[in-house]
Amino acid sequence: MSPNRYPARVDVAIVGSGPTASAYARILSEEAPGATISMFEVGPTVSNPPGAHVRNIGDPERRSLAQRASEGPGAVVETVNSPGAVKSGERRARAGTYLLPEGYAFPGEDGMPVAAMSSNVGGMAAHWTAACPRPGGKERIPFLPDLERLLDEAGRLLGVTTHAFDGAPFSDLVIKRLSAAADEGRDPAFRVQPMPLAVHRREDGGLIWSGSDVVIGDVTRENPQFELFDESLATRVLVEDGIAAGIEVQDRRNGETHRVAARYVVVGGDALRTPQLLWASGIRPDALGRYLNDQAQVVFASRLRDVEPANAPAAADGALSEQSGVAWVPYTDETPFHGQIMQLDASPVPVADDDPIMPGSIVGLGLFCAKDLQREDRVAFDDDARDSYGMPAMRIHYRLTDRDKEGLERAKKEIVRLGKAVGEPLDERPFVMPPGASLHYQGTTRMGETDDGESVCSPDSQVWQVPGLFVAGNGVIPTPTACNPTLTAVALAVRGARKITEELIRALLMSESDNRMSK
Ligand code: FAD
Repeated sequence: MSPNRYPARVDVAIVGSGPTASAYARILSEEAPGATISMFEVGPTVSNPPGAHVRNIGDPERRSLAQRASEGPGAVVETVNSPGAVKSGERRARAGTYLLPEGYAFPGEDGMPVAAMSSNVGGMAAHWTAACPRPGGKERIPFLPDLERLLDEAGRLLGVTTHAFDGAPFSDLVIKRLSAAADEGRDPAFRVQPMPLAVHRREDGGLIWSGSDVVIGDVTRENPQFELFDESLATRVLVEDGIAAGIEVQDRRNGETHRVAARYVVVGGDALRTPQLLWASGIRPDALGRYLNDQAQVVFASRLRDVEPANAPAAADGALSEQSGVAWVPYTDETPFHGQIMQLDASPVPVADDDPIMPGSIVGLGLFCAKDLQREDRVAFDDDARDSYGMPAMRIHYRLTDRDKEGLERAKKEIVRLGKAVGEPLDERPFVMPPGASLHYQGTTRMGETDDGESVCSPDSQVWQVPGLFVAGNGVIPTPTACNPTLTAVALAVRGARKITEELIRALLMSESDNRMSK
């Protein structure tokens, strides 16, 4: 038997190492520095510092190895670097992610053919685009009076800025053209603007994308009470007398299973695997896995017209641009799409040989739609079948409603209109991505104001039936959102972490007072 690398007992056991799990570690390290915290991540460490965005890895070969190492043991299809690179009818994962090999669609349903996950320290945030818009209108959670402050905190943890591409040569032009087409009737806060992004520039001018390493921050890395264990699969949440008591964890380096006792357990395993772990632990509230929603996505590409060659170098990777920046057309209840417009490195359709593409002049437009929520849309789990990690296999039941289809038709018209406003369309037909392509899955461990059977957790993210058990991630978001969800999910994690902090501090004060009394 190999030595057990895990502690016997901690104050807080955190499952997963994506940005939401990391937000718990960060807030606890800042506000409850005496607390012992262990983080368990099933995937390997693929970047340095652990959790860093792989795009910050300069060497393309090492970057590609890091992406492949994040794609789990069950990867079944080839990967592509941008949503626009997917062709009609293809099932492709984005680099650094992997798809479900089966159970993603059932007869008569739309299913979610490209539902994806990442298994690595840092989770999907080692591969993301880092867009961090705030929700607006009906996207916002109506029963959280402190949402704005929490979003501010999330912005602090993720290192969000709207100035990353100040000075990008085509950025103002793209925003000006989009504004002329979209701003009429919008409140100033919802007009076209630079996308808030979790990126910063190094002193030498190079771009650094925030990953979970930025959320974790030095305060956590230097916290002697914090430990991160990679290649460690949480297989069960332990519950004693109805209260969270720790986790069972399988060391993937040797296959051995151990128990780690904990006063609090936080499960931040993404919107598909968090409900999976609860299910595997026998924690099966009726709302678990339900209200699953993905943001239907329409994409389009245009070539900026009337532009002079820009001097800035082409970006190393297609997702973010040094020339055209990233523009944001915010969601409003009247125009319920979240718009993201950014440079593509190459034209998604062939162009004539005698028509060279000016770097930065091809922009991709994406509109995300909010789902018409349905209870029956769900990730369910099969107790008789196992996934590649040996956990209960996922079965996704998912349908687009008539309202969703109408929304998509409207989004298609809108994207053509916006695409024509910025330049010449490369193809007049917008492309609707297959369900799951947004990589923004929500609702499966949704938050509720009360325990009314339609939610899994409280406004503090604590599972209604199991005190001491918290859930983190996009699955906690109860509203249908169109905007990228990570900022919101991190904001909700901040609230949950503060709840744990408060209880830990209260328990500490009580035990000090008991000690004084007994002297
Ligand atoms: P994740 O980041 O998915 O992390 C969950 C982690 O938990 C994983 O590492 C997983 O291996 C681990 N885990 C799961 N189960 C277990 C278990 N049982 N035991 C141990 N570990 C476990 N979002 C945005 O908001 N803006 C964007 O611009 C954006 N762009 C994206 C672009 C790409 C290409 C991708 C891939 C994603 C993008 N996203 C974007 C999505 C964003 O990355 C996710 O919303 C975010 O990472 C979710 O954070 P999380 O902490 O909930 O989960």
